[in-house]
Amino acid sequence: MRKNIVAGNWKLNTTLPEGLALAEGLNEALKGHATNCDVVIGTPFTHLASIASAIDTSRIGVAAQNCANKEKGAYTGEVSAAMIASTGAKYVIIGHSERRAYYHETSAILKEKVQLALAHQLTPIFCIGEVLDERNANKHFDVVYEQINDALFDLSSEDFGKLVLAYEPVWAIGTGVTATAEQAQEMHAYIRQTIAGKYGEVVANDTTILYGGSCNADNAKELFANPDVDGGLIGGASLGVSKFLPIIEAF
Ligand code: PEP
Repeated sequence: MRKNIVAGNWKLNTTLPEGLALAEGLNEALKGHATNCDVVIGTPFTHLASIASAIDTSRIGVAAQNCANKEKGAYTGEVSAAMIASTGAKYVIIGHSERRAYYHETSAILKEKVQLALAHQLTPIFCIGEVLDERNANKHFDVVYEQINDALFDLSSEDFGKLVLAYEPVWAIGTGVTATAEQAQEMHAYIRQTIAGKYGEVVANDTTILYGGSCNADNAKELFANPDVDGGLIGGASLGVSKFLPIIEAF
């Protein structure tokens, strides 16, 4: 049975003291508070170990926002999957559209990252999604198919079953323009059907598929009510407990 997950992506925000305060505030708010979803926070690398030791990680999973496509060696500035796993983080966001666009991460690179994350027992939250021109040209299904096929379809069905996917239409990220509940459901159903075509219905039905793109307290309930939307990857609205908590409570 697939899980519902609400995951925050803090991006390039918060100093270490600010991030610790945010994580501790969320930890406090969730104490003794039953929720119908798992909660994850994607923090800067520099915060991972401190946050993982300051909060109840059985209640709030900690995620990195990227990892190296190399195991180790002379790659100055990179952070490996093994290093991330050693902090107590359990997840890693891979293939976010900002990394694809600004750091030229191709499907070939992302494929290596996913394999390394899995080898180090991290759960990849793998992001896919089209830009506005692609949607306007009615190419959004093809684009998403290619992103999945090129980076993920060499995985065994056992390994594919360890992934979380996040559909994030690029035109909705940080823009305040959210996909409608119908647009989200249509694409999520397509993604699930694509997975079923490769790995079968059981794997497809067990795959958590998050929606991301200007999801907030006002629209989360409607988006999460869709049968194929299993939660959200939340950017801006994950940067404050009072904004993030109502999204968690939308389930
Ligand atoms: C994101 O960064 O993955 C995201 C969805 O951002 P926002 O919620 O700010 O649109």
